[in-house]
Amino acid sequence: MRPAVKEKILIAEDNPNNMRLLEMILKAKGYPLLMATDGEKALEVAAREKPALIIMDIQLPKMSGLEVTARIRQIPALEHISIIAVTANAMKGDEEKATRAGCDVYLPKPIDTRQLPVVVAEMLLKRKPDNRPP
Ligand code: MN
Repeated sequence: MRPAVKEKILIAEDNPNNMRLLEMILKAKGYPLLMATDGEKALEVAAREKPALIIMDIQLPKMSGLEVTARIRQIPALEHISIIAVTANAMKGDEEKATRAGCDVYLPKPIDTRQLPVVVAEMLLKRKPDNRPP
């Protein structure tokens, strides 16, 4: 059994209310959190901190969440980060676009506060052992 060390999660979200909500949900589960409020910062923080998972808002200023995801998938040191795409005003084809950009899971807003931590925990469990920190 691995010790119960919680893996870092990056929240990329520009809406302060959504950020607060996501922060509250994940903090309650004990995850160390990183935050970014635009796409450029999200990429920068991901590269520097190598979080296990990113909650990625699709509509972000400076660089969209899809663009950030596509770039992350091109960087070998980052390509294994689990990415959950979240989007408001979900439209037909959004999920496909998110998947094509390299997102692992797609969740429409409003965020289901009970479902999210379950999805996060499942994704962290599914990560391959060789992608986990020692
Ligand atoms: Mn947004």
